Amino acid sequence: MAFFERFVDFSNDSVKLECFRFFDLNEKQYLDASDFTRLIECLLNHNSATLTESIANDLFVSFDLDADKKINEHEFENVWHNWIKPLIQPVTSFLIIDVQNDFIDGSLALKNCPAKQDGSEIVPLINELINDIKFDVLAYSLDQHPADHISFFENFQLHKLSEDNKKNGEDFKLFDTVSFHGPPQFKQILWPTHCVAGTWGEQFHPNLKVPEGSIIIHKGTDPKIDSYSAFRDNIKSSITELHQRLQERQVTHVFVCGLAYDHCVYSTALDALDLGYATVVIEDACRGTDVESIKRVQNILKSNNCVLAKLPEIEKFVNGKDIRIEFAMTLAKLNQRNSLIM
Ligand SMILES: [Zn+2]
Repeated sequence: MAFFERFVDFSNDSVKLECFRFFDLNEKQYLDASDFTRLIECLLNHNSATLTESIANDLFVSFDLDADKKINEHEFENVWHNWIKPLIQPVTSFLIIDVQNDFIDGSLALKNCPAKQDGSEIVPLINELINDIKFDVLAYSLDQHPADHISFFENFQLHKLSEDNKKNGEDFKLFDTVSFHGPPQFKQILWPTHCVAGTWGEQFHPNLKVPEGSIIIHKGTDPKIDSYSAFRDNIKSSITELHQRLQERQVTHVFVCGLAYDHCVYSTALDALDLGYATVVIEDACRGTDVESIKRVQNILKSNNCVLAKLPEIEKFVNGKDIRIEFAMTLAKLNQRNSLIM
């Protein structure tokens, strides 16, 4: 069962055929469900205990495009190029979310939030990851708001409130969630003024490494809508250029860390999964606002096939030596979606 333990040359079609024949028991010229299960177990290697019968079946079905219960040589093309290849030879991006002065020592410092976590602690850990691990692409997001931004408590009266708010405007407090008029109607937490464009608070923490050539994404620049995710705004009405920039580099896996876990890190990771990236949240390099809400988002992320990991695990994910079932499921789903479009 050591097929994937050697170097696999994906540019060589004879290796693809060799792989197909290796798992095609009795030379049927197709893989049946049990052949395919052996292939997945072999790929997952020491993680193969996480493969349930129902997941194995879902994976088989997602590549059996004509639903004849056989993966033929033609269908194996997708398996080979869009699934085995990115699992074994991932193209990785490290996404560093909002490591900015205001969230660490400024107006929205996490140490003053209910969980009392200190955002400065993650800066040396992120720098170490950048030094030690060969990510293919580094990308940073910056929360960057105009002074009249809708997310600021001071500004709520500048924007039209919806009629279903439980309190009157004059009773609103900092950190309340209010409802703004649509369409579409949407909820917004009223934050203290933070990360205003051109101020100290908006800048990266001074000790954070930002190598030349990194992708830098500004979000929350529209006064009328907030943007937690580095991929798109909170009502999904506009996107940033992050997805396109990662696609240009053929990124398959993203590793997310930063501030705050239960808001911008969470929303970025959830969007990454939705866009079809195998996604890891590096938990020790995140700090959040509230312990209960961190627990809630951890559960949502896990149920969407996000891997919640610790620093020492990252290197093996990046070099394709630790293939998780969650990665396999996310990439199979992406392939299935792309196949249906074509
Ligand atoms: Zn903000």
